Amino acid sequence: MRLTVLGCAGSFPGPDSPCSAYLVEAEGFRLLVDFGSGALSTLQRYAGLHAPDAIILTHLHCDHMLDAASYVVVRRYAPDGPYPALPVYAPSGAPDRLALAYGQEDSTVEDVYQFYGLQPGTFPIGPFTVTVDRMNHPIETYGVRLEHDGRVLCYSSDTAPCEALLRLAQDADLFLCEASYLDGVENPPDLHLTGREAGEAATKAGVGRLLLTHLVAAWGSEALTVEAAGTAYDGPLEVVRAGACYDV
Ligand SMILES: [Zn+2]
Ligand SMILES: [Zn+2]
Repeated sequence: MRLTVLGCAGSFPGPDSPCSAYLVEAEGFRLLVDFGSGALSTLQRYAGLHAPDAIILTHLHCDHMLDAASYVVVRRYAPDGPYPALPVYAPSGAPDRLALAYGQEDSTVEDVYQFYGLQPGTFPIGPFTVTVDRMNHPIETYGVRLEHDGRVLCYSSDTAPCEALLRLAQDADLFLCEASYLDGVENPPDLHLTGREAGEAATKAGVGRLLLTHLVAAWGSEALTVEAAGTAYDGPLEVVRAGACYDV
């Protein structure tokens, strides 16, 4: 598997990155996991306008799904289009939310997307074996485990600490984990992880490598987040950037 980070800014686009979007490729199949605000720009820069063969939206917060609404124009009105409906695996409210975000009350986006409702479990998408489970976040949110050819990539999506995250990340070769909060300040419960909590989850799950994401550039500190994660996890760790690639 090859992971390309298209966007990694937490909660709103940062000065150097769009919001969450991760392209995972195997056997020529390209799965886009999340499509947050601004990621349509870096999709073109790092992959190509029509790169995705399927999309997973882990939850319906803007920073994980909004550019899937912008992408309707690309698929529907391309000079060589319209393009065939793209498979989208998402929480059950996705068709209505995307249609509303697109902007017409009576509109549908089901000519552009073929929707599949996410539920906890394991299923195939292209060459990947995908397992999703509910995370500890205020709306219906799924963490994602992708397996291909004996290798494992786990993505936390947005979550506070929970057992489901540890199960999903168990023995992953690469653990892409959110670290939105700074340690040492009072953070709202049941929303996000600190760097230390991301490190603790990585250690408990026994992962091979920890990639920290979803930092909020305007409010956080990359250096303090890495330091905090390093107090709880002694394997290789770094903060991801838009455009970075990782072979899993
Ligand atoms: Zn988020
Ligand atoms: Zn969220």
